Amino acid sequence: MNKFEQLGLNESLLLAIKDLGFENPSEVQEKAIPLLLEKDTDIVALAQTGTGKTAAFGFPLIQKIDAEDRTTQALILSPTRELCLQITNEIKQYSKYVKGIHTVAVYGGASITEQAKDVKRGAQIIVATPGRMQDMINRGMVNIKNINFCVLDEADEMLNMGFYDDITSILSDTPENKSTWLFSATMPQEVARIAREFMRKPLEITVGHKNSGSQNVSHEFYLVNARDRYSALKRLADANPDIFSVVFCRTKRDTQAVAEKLIEDGYNAAALHGDLSQAQRDGVMKSFRGRQIQMLVATDVAARGIDVDDVTHVINYQLPDEIETYTHRSGRTGRAGKSGTSMVIITKSELRKISQIERIIKTKFEEKPIPSGIEICE
Ligand code: ADP
Ligand code: MG
Repeated sequence: MNKFEQLGLNESLLLAIKDLGFENPSEVQEKAIPLLLEKDTDIVALAQTGTGKTAAFGFPLIQKIDAEDRTTQALILSPTRELCLQITNEIKQYSKYVKGIHTVAVYGGASITEQAKDVKRGAQIIVATPGRMQDMINRGMVNIKNINFCVLDEADEMLNMGFYDDITSILSDTPENKSTWLFSATMPQEVARIAREFMRKPLEITVGHKNSGSQNVSHEFYLVNARDRYSALKRLADANPDIFSVVFCRTKRDTQAVAEKLIEDGYNAAALHGDLSQAQRDGVMKSFRGRQIQMLVATDVAARGIDVDDVTHVINYQLPDEIETYTHRSGRTGRAGKSGTSMVIITKSELRKISQIERIIKTKFEEKPIPSGIEICE
């Protein structure tokens, strides 16, 4: 009996898990799955990024859904459309041996009437961004009055993005007696408030330290003059020819500009930000997943929660405005037990931010010199 069987998962799920190649449950899965299967309870689960939270709620959810009843039984709220698509895709893989489960992704930037039609055809699980969900509710296109489960995934991210009002309004449209499962990497005030106001005696699961990042990631900073930021980025890329990285910029404009320069200079790069059309964003993500792109230059919003395996480096071309965002950025690497490096290109005037981040991640940075041309040639 492997460890997944001991958690109480049924045969169809165990088969799917086998296909996925998951050998053992991660810590958050080990803690959350039996609880959620056995009890009708509210839960707050805190675990850093990359620890397998999707399956921690996805497996028990699928097992608890009545596949023969085609009314909407579960709503999963998630911060971005990329994440909605990713979660939907995962749920479909998990439920591939369960007949009759239908999952629909509901997010902005695509036809709302098409999405509403898909829901009407009988989707037991809706995976939605809060904005689009609210829109559908306002137009009377969905009925979530009888759902049994509401999952708030990446709750800290959703609240960071200003979805508090949408979330509370959506929750007040759901029945009192449902179970609410909240998953988050960190527990800022607003998340605690949602838990207090909308959940009934939630059980709490914490994996690792609250607010700390992955243990598999090493953190480095490179001190430069402001005008040398871009050349420093190129040097870092040159020194790591097998780099497969996400490069974070602060604004959409910088993101676009840095990506364009990299492409001009012959690097396999592309930009990902909110000014691109949905089709463009999907195209970029596809090329990145397929490794045709080595450097994905992205804004925080566009890259939220994106789960791409084997990202070797996260490069902070600029630090984020909110220090807490650093944890989410560095969480793009060092996933599923792999190691990774998070690099910060920084100027002297921003240096104090490093010690602020060190306090949050409870890890020290290593200061490193920008690799010289000689090292790169060697
Ligand atoms: P989180 O939501 O906590 O950031 P994800 O659910 O996106 O993490 O999972 C991160 C990665 O780990 C995904 O690629 C997922 O397929 C993989 N994964 C999840 N659970 C397991 C497991 N038990 N064994 C191996 N890989 C897993
Ligand atoms: Mg997640």
